[in-house]
Formats: sequence, structure tokens, C-alpha cells
Amino acid sequence: MGNAISRRQLFLQHVAQTSLAPMGMDAGHAEGIYIYDTEGKRYVDLIAGVAVSNVGHCHPEVVAAVQAQAARYMHLMVYGEYIQQPQTDYAQALAGILPPPLDCIYFVNSGSEANEGALKLAKRFTGRTETIAFKNAYHGSTQGVLSVMGDEIFRNAFRPLLPDVRHLAFNSVDDLRHITCRTAAVLIEPVQGEAGVVTPQAGYLQALRERCSQTGALLIFDEVQTGFGRTGQWFAALRYGVTPDIMTLAKAMGGGMPLGAFVAPREIMNALQSRPALGHITTFGGHPVSCAAALAALNVLRKGNLPAAVAEKAALFRRLLAHEAIKEIRGEGLMLAVELGDARRLQQVVSGLWDEGVITEWFLFCNTAFRVAPPLIITEEEIREICAVLVKVLNNC
Ligand code: PMP
Repeated sequence: MGNAISRRQLFLQHVAQTSLAPMGMDAGHAEGIYIYDTEGKRYVDLIAGVAVSNVGHCHPEVVAAVQAQAARYMHLMVYGEYIQQPQTDYAQALAGILPPPLDCIYFVNSGSEANEGALKLAKRFTGRTETIAFKNAYHGSTQGVLSVMGDEIFRNAFRPLLPDVRHLAFNSVDDLRHITCRTAAVLIEPVQGEAGVVTPQAGYLQALRERCSQTGALLIFDEVQTGFGRTGQWFAALRYGVTPDIMTLAKAMGGGMPLGAFVAPREIMNALQSRPALGHITTFGGHPVSCAAALAALNVLRKGNLPAAVAEKAALFRRLLAHEAIKEIRGEGLMLAVELGDARRLQQVVSGLWDEGVITEWFLFCNTAFRVAPPLIITEEEIREICAVLVKVLNNC
């Protein structure tokens, strides 16, 4: 107990906080869909560490891959110079599940970096400067992607930001006319995450694809949250049958290790090779231990047919979460927002769930809904148990 208190003090004093109310769990260990605190209390991770732990925490195959690669070699050289088998093996496997012609992968460390790289690539390839993004979009927190974030409160505090950025309304076909021959890139989450899980209306992504093709603007799908099975297909691009020019990935990619990527056909990617050469540089991007973990995670998803099982699991959640407090359940696959339409009640529900050992939270741009986005390995029995707790807490709030 004494130790836990002093650790909490250290956490608050020396580990920089930007949240005024950090959840502050003292993490002990984690396994599958569960995280255990140092006093042994078990929590269901209903948000998968925010779209990361698709194969669950500490999957034994991922742990083994990490341990084996850490003992072989870790960092050797900055990105792209040496041939490293974990990178080449993983790039081959990833190219095998990406929609063609996306087959050339630039590895980075995070979602923000992936989007930074993608925006730079689009500028270089098109020779244009305008970037189009969407209201309520979240693409990361570095200055470039902060400039395209779809929320004025977050953006405004950090001006000046990137010039020549325009925001359109998500799902407005009419707004697509603003994409023109001046536009370098259109960056979009195919399912908006931090907006509170907003799905594209039928035909919208197709219309967007068409407009980008007509104007020569590069279409970038930010699949940082939607990737690796979350929507029921490997990628939302496959779910909606629309292929972007560039795709960005992170979060679940590394199976719990930090890894991200922007992906494009080689013909587009080559734009970063000249005038100047080294058009994008990273020291740690594609770290061999992260790539080994990523390959193991991909194989776990593939062997367990986990993306294909998502639809049925999501349907079970939707069926069992019938309650008068729930106004709507939005989402695609196991990327769900349970809308209560009431911020105060939502806070009570989230903290009631925490007490009952279920971790969820609201969204950056939507404080009236909570997330249901568990590891994809979740079983039917676990879903039933969790939904019973959810309903109990809803009854009490
Ligand atoms: N894009 C999307 C859609 C995200 O949800 C996030 C993170 N929540 C990011 C990009 C940024 O990723 P990271 O935090 O790894 O930089």
C-alpha cells in the first residue's frame, strides 16, 4: 500500500500530465482482455488501450517474438539503410493483406508520424500545397497534423499552424466540390473515431474517391484506428470497397509495440527519394522488435480468423445493450460508440464501470457516448458477462 501511494506521487510529480484527471491505475500485469492493477483488481479493457490491443494484451506469440528478436538485435541503424529480416518479413506479409496497388511501406513509430509522412508525400508527389481534412477529425498531435485536426479549440491555441488547410463536413457530398486541382491531399478517417464513431454514409467514400481521381488530389485514408480487423475486414478500405492513394497505420499494427506506417504504391513513394533525397527520415521507425511483434500479431489475427468474427461479436454487443438510457449505438464492427445523449450521466456511467472493473471512456470530440472497442479476441461468454455489468451500471446511473 505504502509503495502504491509513493508511486502515485511520483507519477503525478515527475510523469508529465496533460489530463487534469488521469485514470491513474497502478498497472500490475495484463493478459488477454484484462488488465490487473498492483492490488490484483481485474479490469476488462473495453477500449483495447485505445484501438491497440486487437490481439489482446501480452499475446504469448507476440511476447515470444519480442523476446526472440530483442535477444538477436535491437536498433542497428537509422531507418532504411540495412536489410533487417523482421522488417522485410513483415512488409511482405502486410503487402499481402493491403488492397492493391498499396504495396510499399514506410515504417514510422506512431500514428501522428504516419500522417505527417503521408501529407509530405502527397505534397511532393503532386507539387501542390492545399490539404483538405474534415470537421471533428483527429490525426495526431504534432504540429503538422494538429493543423488538420477538425477542432478549432485544440488548433487555435497553437497557431500559427500549417497554411492552406481547409476543413469539409464529413459525409457532405456537396462539400466535395471544394476539392480542386490545387489540392495535394485529402486526409480522412474512413470511420471517424474521436468524433464519436461516425460512419460514412452509403456512397460517400466512393464519391470522394471519384472527386480525388478527377482533380488529381491524393486520397489518404487514416486507418490508425480502423486498421487490423477492427471494422470486420483487415482495413476499412476493404470494408467499403474504396482504395486510397496512401494509407496510414499505427496503433494495433505493432501488437502492443510502437509502430506506424504510411503505405502507397512504389511509384508514389518514390517522390521521397529525390530532390531532396532522404525526403523523410526516422531513427527508430520500423524498429526490428516492433516489426517482429507486428508479424506475430498479424499471424494471430489471420490464424484465428479474427477480422471475420468481428461482425457476430459486434451484433451480440448491440443485441445485449438494449436499455432505455441508450439513445443510439453507432459504429462499424467492434468500433462502437454507445450514445447516452447526456454528458453528466455518461461520466457517472464511466466511473461506475470503472468501479465494477470495466474500462471505457468518452471521445475527444464527443462527451456523451462511451467506447466499446475491446480486443478482437473477446469471446461470446466474455461479451455476455460484460454486457450484464454494463446494463447493471446503466440501471444505477
Ligand atoms: N489518427 C487517428 C485516427 C487516431 O485515432 C490517432 C490516435 N488516437 C492518431 C492518428 C495519432 O496516433 P498517435 O497517438 O500514435 O500519434
